[in-house]
Amino acid sequence: MNQHLRPDPVAFIDIAAQRRRLGKSIDDAVARVLGHCQFINGPEVTELEAALADFSGAKHVVSCASGTDALLMVLMAKGVGRGDAVFCPSFTFCATGEAVALTGATPVFVDVDEATFNIDSASLKRGIAAAKRLGLKPVAVIPVDLFGQSADHDVIGAIAAEEGLFVLDDAAQAFGASYKGRRLGTLGLATATSFFPAKPLGCFGDGGAIFTDDAELATALRSVRVHGQGSDKYDNVRLGLTGRLDTVQAAILIEKLRIFEDEIAARNKVAERYAQGLGNVVGVPRLAAGCTSVWAQYTVRLPAGCDRDGFAAALKAQGIPTAIYYPKSMHQQTAYRDFPVADGGLPASERLSSDVISLPMHAYLDEPTQERVVKAVRGALSS
Ligand SMILES: *Cc1c(COP(=O)(O)O)cnc(C)c1O
Repeated sequence: MNQHLRPDPVAFIDIAAQRRRLGKSIDDAVARVLGHCQFINGPEVTELEAALADFSGAKHVVSCASGTDALLMVLMAKGVGRGDAVFCPSFTFCATGEAVALTGATPVFVDVDEATFNIDSASLKRGIAAAKRLGLKPVAVIPVDLFGQSADHDVIGAIAAEEGLFVLDDAAQAFGASYKGRRLGTLGLATATSFFPAKPLGCFGDGGAIFTDDAELATALRSVRVHGQGSDKYDNVRLGLTGRLDTVQAAILIEKLRIFEDEIAARNKVAERYAQGLGNVVGVPRLAAGCTSVWAQYTVRLPAGCDRDGFAAALKAQGIPTAIYYPKSMHQQTAYRDFPVADGGLPASERLSSDVISLPMHAYLDEPTQERVVKAVRGALSS
């Protein structure tokens, strides 16, 4: 490399590399849809739903327009609304709590475990107590499998069963991950995921899916997806949405799903190399017992007193992008700060929001490029 030139910028998530790998198969898949012109509810939509059911082990898959709609549609199908409390972690992407608030129900924010970034069961119990004291009716919990790692679903499921809550898993970042040998999509009443391009399994636009073993819920979801339709389009039995996944996106996803296992394995190799190269200088993410990750993000914690902005600037100067997920937890956001939080506050979420930073992570991050990232991180911390 010429030392006088700036090194090539590293991609944070390299969508183009996958595009090169799949080039013709995706071109052909899109061309087939352009040929048959069934842009809504074309045959690829049904085919994708079957392939996703097969991949996850879920009995029913309902594709939809986004991960946010996936969450919202389950809450709508279950009739969640005013006076209901739905528990979700505060350290997450805003869509988790947003879907709850859109139904008129109250999101109650609970804390996360600092080691896994996922819901803290003790805080969940304190959140349930807080909701009851406020006169709200606890109805559901939305664990998030953050950054690609499965949450502790047995523990959450046990609390939910005891309190009569249903579990809606927000696996928007974690489709493909597993918990105790079971793929996400089979835990809780329903699982929501997103196919936003930057998610581990992404399409070329917006998309999402809901997974459930409950046939009655699947039927209700198919109704909510099309304006709450009953026996036909012009019979409306409930409120619904324009919540469908486009046929073109389904056709693209069918091709991407074929290489998804291979990409998950590659992501895990990248994560192992990061842990080896950085484990003694930053807080690297650890997998909890029984949990796997698809590494939607590789998020590390900077040492106490480290200037995060300065660190990010030092990496950027070497062509290495970083991102902060999430600089504010949901309960710290203007739109959500008036909603209740679990008793005892959410100190872990607040600490994480102040010291996390995410490094480039994708299935096509080769060893020499990753070595550059590792070197730059180590250099920035020692200067
Ligand atoms: C991306 C994401 C969503 C929303 O998915 P969209 O497809 O962007 O609507 C929901 N929850 C979490 C945790 C996410 O990361």
